[in-house]
Amino acid sequence: MRYISTRGGVDPVTSAEAIYRGLAPDGGLFVPESFPAFPAASWPLLPTMSYTSLAEEILGLYLTDYRAAEIASAVAAAYGSTFDHEEKTPLVALSADRYMLELWHGPTAAFKDMALQLLPHLLTEAMAKQGIEQEMVILVATSGDTGKAALAGFAGVPSTRIIVFYPAGGVSEVQRLQMVTTAGDNTAVIAVQGNFDDCQRGVKMIFGDSEYRQNLAQQGFLLSSANSINWGRLLPQIVYYFKAYGQLLRGGALKAGAEMDVVVPTGNFGNILACYYAMRMGLPVGNLICASNKNKILTDVIQTGSYDRRRPFYRTMSPSMDILISSNFERFLFEMTGRDAAMLRSHIASLDQEGYYRLDRQTLRNVQDTLHGDYCDEEATRAAIRRTFAEEGYLIDPHTAVAIDVLDRYRLATGIQRPAVIASTANPYKFNVAVYEALREGDALSTLDEFAVSQALSAYTGTVPHRAVCDLEQQPVRHRTVINKEDMAGTVTEILNKIHD
Ligand SMILES: *Cc1c(COP(=O)(O)O)cnc(C)c1O
Repeated sequence: MRYISTRGGVDPVTSAEAIYRGLAPDGGLFVPESFPAFPAASWPLLPTMSYTSLAEEILGLYLTDYRAAEIASAVAAAYGSTFDHEEKTPLVALSADRYMLELWHGPTAAFKDMALQLLPHLLTEAMAKQGIEQEMVILVATSGDTGKAALAGFAGVPSTRIIVFYPAGGVSEVQRLQMVTTAGDNTAVIAVQGNFDDCQRGVKMIFGDSEYRQNLAQQGFLLSSANSINWGRLLPQIVYYFKAYGQLLRGGALKAGAEMDVVVPTGNFGNILACYYAMRMGLPVGNLICASNKNKILTDVIQTGSYDRRRPFYRTMSPSMDILISSNFERFLFEMTGRDAAMLRSHIASLDQEGYYRLDRQTLRNVQDTLHGDYCDEEATRAAIRRTFAEEGYLIDPHTAVAIDVLDRYRLATGIQRPAVIASTANPYKFNVAVYEALREGDALSTLDEFAVSQALSAYTGTVPHRAVCDLEQQPVRHRTVINKEDMAGTVTEILNKIHD
């Protein structure tokens, strides 16, 4: 299998090259030249396949330049003892043929672990294949979740260093403690006096400074990023949609070949794109539903064909979906336009320069034939948390609440009642304050710190906090550096020099 760019300006490359480069040299995103079918012989085995053997099977179809043993060892390292559930992604039945696909059993309690536990191993094997002897330095700007998931994935992985920048005062206390207590000699966590955009701008400037990068290369360091446009982050996400289907077959909720619906709370469009790719491989999905929060730019483009980022940005209780530029939507449009790279170049240029683009009628029709899109405001998100707990005895986080609300309204409007899988992207304790406030409206929270909130939530709901947020208070703080936003490049140099001493 070879990989091409969505912008058409690159000769096909191997999967190792796509993974180690991250972004295509023409600014586009790497996509597979074609979609392999899930093998006919494997369908009967799907209900009983373990997560790891399914992952090996699917990765093997795409990473044809990796040996089977390399894939197996990467998969074993990623999904071994770091997950707290045998199934890795258990499927929990709610009423009305709705199923929660719990994607948060990894070390940091968010679904980003599904990919970020595996990416470092795919990346180091890619470097070995390309004959790269430098150390890989991963730079991450984070507004919370990605930072810890990337730290957990890269900590202790040979030939890699990871440096995470977060806005001082701009992340929750749980998120901050999750990051600054990270162990591992190859990790650094830096608070930046500024906001998330300052952090991201700083990282982009470092990447864009070719002289700086050359200097680092001479010292034996190669810069890379772990953000969600890397093919190595997308590919692992295809696996759990097949796994969910196998679980439905096993439980008798579906007969072989029958369709399930899938709803995904969406931000950067990576998770839902993986489900679309699974469909291209033959997974029977009836309706694929894209759920947004109040930042509903995706709902608008799906419903009207107009992608317009000239709009206010809202901070919501589902912050991982607070996004106006959904990077992976470019990969989806590539397919919806019939792989028309010229059209994509023109849309992206228009988005950069004017802040919007408009899909032609045929492309819009293709989008609407593939996806349903809707959104959920803050009050409806809170109501969905309350309702799901009251009616199902099941506690959900605000991102998952957005998805279930959109699904329920879709069913009300269409009357369609297939078994539906809801991608549950975070454990509720990761967003304990918002969840507690939704359940106990009017209860004074301002006097409680975040740890007391976890205890109150646990006492009120009879649920157990995720291990990732449990004993954070007791763990030693290992990262204390705070810098000005102008000093990010200098700090990277300093950290790497220290390592070399
Ligand atoms: C990142 C994230 C999302 C959005 O996923 P995308 O792949 O960016 O669409 C949703 N929920 C949670 C909890 C996340 O961390």
